[in-house]
Amino acid sequence: MDASASETLELVDTHCHLDDGRFGRSLEEVLGRARAAGVTRFVVPGVVPEGWGEIARIARKHAGVFAAPGLHPMRAKLYGSETLRELERSLDGAVAVGEIGIDPSYKDVPRELQAEAFRGQLRLAVAAGLPVLIHCRRAFDETLRILREERVERVGGIMHAFSGSAETARACIDLGLLVSVAGTVTYGNAVRPLEVVRAVPPDALVLETDAPDMTPEPHRGLPNEPAFIIETARRVAELKGVTVAELARVTSANARRLLRI
Ligand SMILES: [Zn+2]
Repeated sequence: MDASASETLELVDTHCHLDDGRFGRSLEEVLGRARAAGVTRFVVPGVVPEGWGEIARIARKHAGVFAAPGLHPMRAKLYGSETLRELERSLDGAVAVGEIGIDPSYKDVPRELQAEAFRGQLRLAVAAGLPVLIHCRRAFDETLRILREERVERVGGIMHAFSGSAETARACIDLGLLVSVAGTVTYGNAVRPLEVVRAVPPDALVLETDAPDMTPEPHRGLPNEPAFIIETARRVAELKGVTVAELARVTSANARRLLRI
């Protein structure tokens, strides 16, 4: 992309694990490449309590980086009243609670425990007036039921790396949630992500990388990084029949409105 094009772009990566060890010392360069590609804001979700301090540190240190601490469903065994209190203390300066949810593919973490950790953190987010970043795979009925019961519409949230059907996407939007599209939409064999992008109205769409995972084409095989969000933006713009600049403008406005960034 040439410099004049990147000047007009304003992209928000609503989900990137900048605290991941795979970035390490190269974070400054990673952010530099992202800014050159038009990415102006980065939301870093939590995974485990011992990472929340580092996320907050990265957010304080780098302009445009925002923290969203939370306990990932794959680590729900760490959930308890002490973890919840620690999370509450970590919310100072945070823009969301994440990533939280239910994912039965983590077979060693009992689903009931995942649901308990999800609900507890969701309640904390609602009490704190913060939106949530939701991780859900193959558990949409239960996840949506809990979101509905806890009245998530009071704070809103993002369905991160959405992997459900177009119908499920519409159910999420009815709950006041945004649907986040990741790099899978660029894959040659993608079917569902394309249907979802076509079905979701522009005002409910946001973009993410989930870096360093889920690398989009044509960079597959490399660790993912926020600069690559442009590939996802191009594909989504093509599917929506709008320019990349227009798609960037709308999706960034959606993310900024929800997260107040
Ligand atoms: Zn993630």
